[in-house]
Amino acid sequence: MRCAVRPLSPGSHVLNRTTMPIRETFWNIPRWAEYANYLLGLLSFLILIYGLWRRTRVWLRGRPAMRSDRVAQRIGGMISDGFVQLRTLSQPLPGLMHKGIFLGIVFLFVGTVLATLDWDITRLLFDVRFLQGVIYVTYKLVLDIAGLLLLLGVAVAAYRRYVARPKRLVNALSSTYTRDDAYALAVLATIAVTGFMIEGLRLAVVQPWWAVWSPIGNLVAHAFVSLGEQTNRTLHLSIWMFHMLIVFGAIAAIPYTKFVHIFTSPVNIFFRNLNPPGALEPIRNIEEAETFGAGKIEDWTWKRLLDFDACTRCGRCQDACPAYATNKPLSPQNIIVKLGGYLWQTPLATGKKDAALRSMHGEVITADELWDCTTCAACVQACPVYIDQMGAIIEMRRYLTMSEGDVSRNLNMAMTGMEQNGNPYGLSRNQRADWAQGLGVKTMAEAGGNVDILYWVGCAAAYDDRNKRVARAFVKILQAANVNFAILGTEETCTGDSARRAGNEYLFQMLAQENIATLNGYGVKRIVTACPHCFHTIRDEYPQFGGNYEVLHHSQLIAELLAQGRLSLSKPLDSGSVTYHDPCYLGRHNNVYQPSRQIIRRATGRAAIEMARNHAHSFCCGAGGARNWMEENRGTRINQNRAAEAIATGAATLAVACPFCMGMLTDGLKAKAAEG
Ligand code: SF4
Ligand code: SF4
Repeated sequence: MRCAVRPLSPGSHVLNRTTMPIRETFWNIPRWAEYANYLLGLLSFLILIYGLWRRTRVWLRGRPAMRSDRVAQRIGGMISDGFVQLRTLSQPLPGLMHKGIFLGIVFLFVGTVLATLDWDITRLLFDVRFLQGVIYVTYKLVLDIAGLLLLLGVAVAAYRRYVARPKRLVNALSSTYTRDDAYALAVLATIAVTGFMIEGLRLAVVQPWWAVWSPIGNLVAHAFVSLGEQTNRTLHLSIWMFHMLIVFGAIAAIPYTKFVHIFTSPVNIFFRNLNPPGALEPIRNIEEAETFGAGKIEDWTWKRLLDFDACTRCGRCQDACPAYATNKPLSPQNIIVKLGGYLWQTPLATGKKDAALRSMHGEVITADELWDCTTCAACVQACPVYIDQMGAIIEMRRYLTMSEGDVSRNLNMAMTGMEQNGNPYGLSRNQRADWAQGLGVKTMAEAGGNVDILYWVGCAAAYDDRNKRVARAFVKILQAANVNFAILGTEETCTGDSARRAGNEYLFQMLAQENIATLNGYGVKRIVTACPHCFHTIRDEYPQFGGNYEVLHHSQLIAELLAQGRLSLSKPLDSGSVTYHDPCYLGRHNNVYQPSRQIIRRATGRAAIEMARNHAHSFCCGAGGARNWMEENRGTRINQNRAAEAIATGAATLAVACPFCMGMLTDGLKAKAAEG
């Protein structure tokens, strides 16, 4: 190998260029310090393992949860989101910052492992040193870059935390974690800086010709070389000892500091929910259940306890939350952070009863926070470590609704309507198919179940005047395309979506079982619906109770009919420019984004104008999570926030693909128009 050699100072004893580069392990380190290094290393790893075991033991005190299926998919997620960190990188500045720190630590750790293998294993067992020659100089270069990445990452993190201070880095327990956050950055910076100093001081004394392969260390060496060999040796030994103390101290402290996420993050990603985010866990044997949902810490499953402990306090979920964005009490970050902090005060962690322990409901998490959630899943999707904030909120709602009966009057009326009349409007079951009068639509009973597809109408299209027009228009489309379809008519009943999101699992299961019995009785295989909430509930949740169907949103079927040439458009729709709002239960919950956009393009001859928040980053209309049936009397209105964004596009028409988005955004646009 040839490289340019630049002596550090005139007359310095640069090793002969023919000398083979080799790692000078424990250079300048006395034997006693070498042994102390091994001893401290062993001790720190034992403390680390003990601390992690203590933490794991607390999680395992939670109730059972099944998360050991689809192992290959789980490992794949650990690689893509744990190691490659795709979700973290979806936001460039914090993503690259974290990636720099992560890669720096990983490469420095691997470098230390290789050095140990080289010195303590291959040298002792086989008299072989593999860290020499080209391998060694490459190793040095890579470790220098790793140290630099670590330092840069820490500098950006410190800038964000202490200078830019984005709101999302503030949470309910920020004051508790101030020292922990500062400690993490200080330790990493100290390790990187002292590492470079150790290397630079050694290079300043030894001055090997391959020093250029350690560019940062070489720079440090230039700064110190004039101090002379003896001073540099003394400095080197002192800083080396300090460095090792910091490193081993940090390793031992991992389970008790922010660094614990090095372990909790990949573990939580491995055990993540692999089902659609809104497919809630059913309460099995609900008739015999004595408690419902999460009323106290002991009610959570081990996976939820792990969720609470795995939060890195990055605030991404808070940034994405429509409730938080409209100044409501709810922040998904606070829900998780507060439950995480609370966990360690409860007997589950301390092993002792504490009479002064706050209650989880009311004192730690308020009912307002729980009821503000629209179940839009923006938080779940944003979380880099796959914490299920929304699922935790629903579990607590289950307790409020089923154990405490703590439900607002309007929501209670909607649920009574579902229970007694099969719809949240409380209107007669007999009127359910009135919207279809004069259209010649057959019911399944009339068709004898002999159809290609069932049109699931849903309560909104059956009872709400504006949405009845959507149902009638959709029927005309189906008829124009000669689709062999039918409806259930008065045999259809509410899917129970709102009941489930409101925590009324009992009512949901009752409605679901009734519908599944009807659908299975007709041998239904394929269903189309215009409502993303019905779409999600039947497609993602009815399989939990034996209802397995192919379910399409009407935008998917219309796009399919257009593509097959079964529908044709004679002239472009005179709608002016169009912007499109992605419904949460179609987009984020079920990953359906394109059909509506394809239809808009075909119908208008132009692509939809995108709002600033679109596709997976769409902003909720405010109706989901049974919020459609509740007053919105905290903060500002979510629908107006979204309407303002639609207006800002300058589009003449706002297209929606959900009956509840239709109502919410119509109201939002009217309110904005009234404001002028
Ligand atoms: S589901 Fe939506 S509204 Fe609920 S906490 Fe998450 S981001 Fe906020
Ligand atoms: S729950 Fe997830 S997204 Fe929210 S602060 Fe914690 S780690 Fe970040």
